Amino acid sequence: MTTLTRADWEQRAKNLQIEGRALIHGEHRDAVSGQTFECVSPVDGRILGLIASCDAADADVAVRDARATFESGVWSRMKPVERKKIMIRFADLLDAHAEELALLETLDMGKPIAFSLSVDVAGASRAIRWSGEAIDKIYDEVAATPHDELGLVTREPVGVVAAIVPWNFPMIMTAWKLGPALATGNSVIVKPSEKSPLTAIRMAELALEAGIPAGVLNVLPGFGHTVGKALALHMDVDTLVFTGSTKIAKQLMIYAGESNMKRVWLEAGGKSANIVFEDAPCLKEAAEAAAMAICFNQGEMCTAGSRLLVQRSIKDQFMPMVVEALKGWKVGHALDPETQVGALVDQGHLNTVLSYIEAGHADQAKMLCGGKRTLEETGGVYVEPTIFDDAHNKMRIAQEEIFGPVLTVIPFDTTEEAIAIANDSIFGLAAAIWTSNLSKAHLAAKALRVGSMWVNQYDGGDMTAPFGGYKQSGNGRDKSLHAFDKYTEIKATWIKL
Ligand code: NAD
Ligand code: MN
Repeated sequence: MTTLTRADWEQRAKNLQIEGRALIHGEHRDAVSGQTFECVSPVDGRILGLIASCDAADADVAVRDARATFESGVWSRMKPVERKKIMIRFADLLDAHAEELALLETLDMGKPIAFSLSVDVAGASRAIRWSGEAIDKIYDEVAATPHDELGLVTREPVGVVAAIVPWNFPMIMTAWKLGPALATGNSVIVKPSEKSPLTAIRMAELALEAGIPAGVLNVLPGFGHTVGKALALHMDVDTLVFTGSTKIAKQLMIYAGESNMKRVWLEAGGKSANIVFEDAPCLKEAAEAAAMAICFNQGEMCTAGSRLLVQRSIKDQFMPMVVEALKGWKVGHALDPETQVGALVDQGHLNTVLSYIEAGHADQAKMLCGGKRTLEETGGVYVEPTIFDDAHNKMRIAQEEIFGPVLTVIPFDTTEEAIAIANDSIFGLAAAIWTSNLSKAHLAAKALRVGSMWVNQYDGGDMTAPFGGYKQSGNGRDKSLHAFDKYTEIKATWIKL
């Protein structure tokens, strides 16, 4: 996809002009308070620039403007086919700026540059394009009415949407919200993570360039407890969509209840079970997928296959294959195109991940590999992919979301036991099973309380399929037409003829 070398990327990084201001009504603005914070790259420790630290005052300005823009009809009442054209242009512009966006993403949150290009930019543009393409193909309903009455069931945009997103896939998480929110005609305020504000700001600039009217897409960088909280408590935000941790998701429900009962849609954490049965069609493939499931995105993935459940009869044969596959994941400087495991998002998160490795030792799980910080000479924050074997499901490393490349391996004997262990979690985001037995695959898929279920593969999906969690992994779904539900109200209009 690109022939740029690490030196090329480094050169571009040096010449980067960082835009860290808020974007409200098509204009860059400093925070009302004038406050800023430093944006530090986890790749090598360099300071990338200053970011506006927005708070409640900025939220007020942005919400008022988003409301006025919505009411003006400039976007909300634009012909669907026109909105479609503009959104497709927006997706085209994301593609056209792929290298620039990828570089911002990698510098800001540490993921390998190759994946920023092939996964993050591509995934974000696909989400915007897919949603845009759908706009003029969706129909409302007519109820089953008697001949002298007409019941219309129509969808209307909710109005002002606040989208609070995390740092692990900053562009994609933003795009999963923006696609359906914009497609359905809403005005949106994005609150990116304080750890990864750069691409959201750049995306909003490109949206303007594509023709999305000023005030439709606004970005307020800043901290969760300041501007995030202000948006969640705001009396004039209609819908709050969120991706992030379960802890904050719960808090947002409280804020909604304390304020205007805004609709709250939550994509939260996970501790997904990847279950390998003795009759897996190919153990080598299963081992490679198990390594991918914990190494990809440095394990900073809501759907990370962080619990590997292995049938005891094959465990001695299987685990060396997993270790070998894991060692194949090249940890390196995030701007090196060969790197597959980049930097963790920041020093604080590295400390969290290392403390879970300590917890694994303390609980006497058996470490098979990894376990240490690495590449300190880069000035960045890198950790070795780590495997704990012979764990059991009550350990902290089996129950809590580590959000780093730390794999917890739990043996089992029977199918029932595997399902019980997998479901013994507060989370219900995803699970995978590996088996050649069709009935077992279907029965297990039904029994597992998760929103995404994979059979003989890990992490499949597309914009065409909904994504979200059961239990404390959240509610509602991103992606697919199901996502449009979050951004529309249903109106029943009954007419006497
Ligand atoms: P986080 O919950 O700490 O932060 C998410 C966002 O919420 C950030 O923008 C943050 O600033 C904001 N926030 C924090 N406190 C807030 C408050 N009091 N009020 C309002 N907003 C507040 O999560 P994170 O560390 O950024 O991301 C990692 C988490 O995201 C993991 O738990 C991961 O599983 C989850 N995640 C879930 C999905 C999914 O689709 N289910 C996808 C990606 C990540
Ligand atoms: Mn950052």
